[in-house]
Amino acid sequence: MENLRTYHGSCHCGAVKFRISSPEITSGVRCNCSICERKGALMTPHIYSPEELVVESGADQLSVYQFGSGVAKHYFCKVCGIYPFHQTMRKAGYYRVNVGCVNGLEPLVMPVEVFDGKSL
Ligand SMILES: [Zn+2]
Repeated sequence: MENLRTYHGSCHCGAVKFRISSPEITSGVRCNCSICERKGALMTPHIYSPEELVVESGADQLSVYQFGSGVAKHYFCKVCGIYPFHQTMRKAGYYRVNVGCVNGLEPLVMPVEVFDGKSL
């Protein structure tokens, strides 16, 4: 059983604030699918349930982008355009989070695993 801790995060302008209950985040995932290639964000390895990811403020400031099968939901802040988290294609209704939006983490120095989303 892993120890869970609470991380806080936000979009760039602060309109959207959230928290996650998470194992310690020490690495990230990148994906080569058509949208991830364009976003370039480092994502959390852990996939969060709706109970583990809580939007504390600004839920009404989120816009959602969907394409293809429409299973994945790519959220972004309507004000600053930043992507804080998305609902994954692999596990509908569950979330991966943008490590760069989480307070106190340094995505540019984390070990990265590349996920082959292009081939799905
Ligand atoms: Zn924002």
